Amino acid sequence: MSTILEAIHANKVFGGGLLDRSATVAVEDFSLAFVEEKPTITAVVGESGSGKTTVARLMLGFEAPTGGEIQYRGKSLPSLSAGEWRAFRSDVQAVFQDPFQVYNPFYRIDHVLKVPIQRFGLARSNKERNGLIERVLTTVGLQPAEVLGRHPHQLSGGQRQRIMVARALVVNPKVIIADEPVSMIDASLRATVLTTLRKLNREQGISILYITHDLATAYQISDQIIVLYAGKVVEIGAVEKVIQQPKHPYSQLLVNAVPQPNPDHKWQLVGEHTAGGHVVTDRVGCPFAARCPQVMEHCTDKTPALLETDSDRSVACHLYDEAVVAAR
Ligand code: SF4
Repeated sequence: MSTILEAIHANKVFGGGLLDRSATVAVEDFSLAFVEEKPTITAVVGESGSGKTTVARLMLGFEAPTGGEIQYRGKSLPSLSAGEWRAFRSDVQAVFQDPFQVYNPFYRIDHVLKVPIQRFGLARSNKERNGLIERVLTTVGLQPAEVLGRHPHQLSGGQRQRIMVARALVVNPKVIIADEPVSMIDASLRATVLTTLRKLNREQGISILYITHDLATAYQISDQIIVLYAGKVVEIGAVEKVIQQPKHPYSQLLVNAVPQPNPDHKWQLVGEHTAGGHVVTDRVGCPFAARCPQVMEHCTDKTPALLETDSDRSVACHLYDEAVVAAR
């Protein structure tokens, strides 16, 4: 098995070092690997400020971890040679939340697709370049004749986002990091983008890291899910298990907050607030203790470790730590 991209106990602290009391821990002890022979879709879910986007930026090499490391094909990102860095930039592609930010309104969308082809020297002639553009557009379910030659504002949000996926595909990536790719798109068009991502995973063997606040779409397309709270992984496992039988009290709150068809069921989190990382002084104990309906005495003085509770699932909660439960 060859690992393409891996986070190994990655931390990201903003505003100072770990001993700086004003520092905010955005991500703590995050580990995840994408293996070439087993392409998967992994969703990272959590509220605003939970550290999801920092995870995406670390995996893309846009941010350097303050602890642990991000590896590309077994080498830490800072140690990559120029050639390896170029291969990393090709193998690991990004799709962002707001495609409008990527487009220059003065250029036709053809330009967006031509740039990576030129940058990576992927075509020897205009004919070859145009053929490649048509192929990636067709792969994401777009008719080249309908979108080429148009300006971004002449396309729907769903079309713009699928062009961003096509742009990522031009360089034949192994991993796509998609940060809230459908949150700015009409609900009616979301399915087209999500279906495209799923198809790329199944048919082209591309692994996807799907960053979202939306548990429902994470459930639709993912194989594995990671629930982040205040920068920490509180539950990780097979998506069916975590969504249908969440174990961590925070995962349970998230699942219960998904809109129900019943109009009397209000969509809100119990005790909702922004989970914006945690300051260094809060690092002892469970970061969820202030909101947890099942908080125990131990929860504020002992940090729960991520423990395997059943096959394909680990949870960071004292409720599943036999030693803590026995001592109650
Ligand atoms: Fe709740 Fe304690 Fe579990 Fe944290 S460790 S989620 S406070 S029960």
